Amino acid sequence: MSHSITLRHIYLARQAIAPYVRRTPLVRSPLLSQRAGAEVYLKLETAQETGAFKLRGAANKLLRLSDAERARGVVTVSTGNHGRAVAYMGRLLGVRVVVCAPALVLAHKIKAMRDLGAEVIAAGASQDEAECRALALAQEQGLTLVSPFDDPDIIAGQGVIGLELLEELPQIDTAVVPLSGGGLLGGIGLALKAADPAVRVVGASMARGPVMVESLRAGRPLQLPEEPTLADSLMGGIGLDNRYTFDLVRQVLDDAVLLSEEEIGSAMRYALREEHLVVEGGGAVGLGAVLHGKAQLGRCVAVVVSGGNADMARLLELAS
Ligand SMILES: *Cc1c(COP(=O)(O)O)cnc(C)c1O
Repeated sequence: MSHSITLRHIYLARQAIAPYVRRTPLVRSPLLSQRAGAEVYLKLETAQETGAFKLRGAANKLLRLSDAERARGVVTVSTGNHGRAVAYMGRLLGVRVVVCAPALVLAHKIKAMRDLGAEVIAAGASQDEAECRALALAQEQGLTLVSPFDDPDIIAGQGVIGLELLEELPQIDTAVVPLSGGGLLGGIGLALKAADPAVRVVGASMARGPVMVESLRAGRPLQLPEEPTLADSLMGGIGLDNRYTFDLVRQVLDDAVLLSEEEIGSAMRYALREEHLVVEGGGAVGLGAVLHGKAQLGRCVAVVVSGGNADMARLLELAS
């Protein structure tokens, strides 16, 4: 593989983040197993303290900063869950955290970041504009820019999920993983394919603006207009100057599934009613891919349920 991230990097991440990050439950879903005609397990990243897997990468990244970098602080761009994870770790480690939030970030996610002590700046209409702002702040104030996905330390942190899956479910033949910038799928795919290249890695995205999937089709990173979606945590580009995740995802992704807003909504509703889980739209796309029979599955499937920070009013509306 041409990228610079190795399985060792993921093991090192696991050792570093173990005191800060939960090993999340892996539970069998009888109902989805029946529907899919396969053994289907759910990896519940909703159980992380910040409500999403992003704590893994953020913990690894902040722990690997030098003392001088920690003293100066960090800046990041986020649709909410990454910013919250960085803010959480920043508070634990005494690191100043500035988050540049694009206009579409939900109010309850901004509140969660502020409650953890982050300085949240409204920074432009799109993820790309917010990124420019973050870059400028990094240069002006000597802050370290922490990418939500395009960083080997972030990717390795998310990849720890792959190690946990292999240990608890060594017979796994398919992983269904929500896909946006590709840190999550890239890290998990790297770990699973290192164990056995035959394990299928299926990405799930929303049909409204699936930047990574369109970029892979085009053979280069693209920029797409942002549209509001129930999967708000999957919004945003992959960066026209993407360094790691585009190549990594290209290497480990076997199939990509796109979900309509209706399908995402029904996956959230299914999660709540049948699995008794609060799952946000971006966290539910893997569930949706299985629920709606959109993914080609093997016999032993792990679905990553990546986050639970749903807008409650919205979720209850969907569920009624
Ligand atoms: C960020 C996020 C994703 C996508 O992760 P990437 O590494 O950007 O592909 C999926 N689900 C949730 C809940 C997220 O917060």
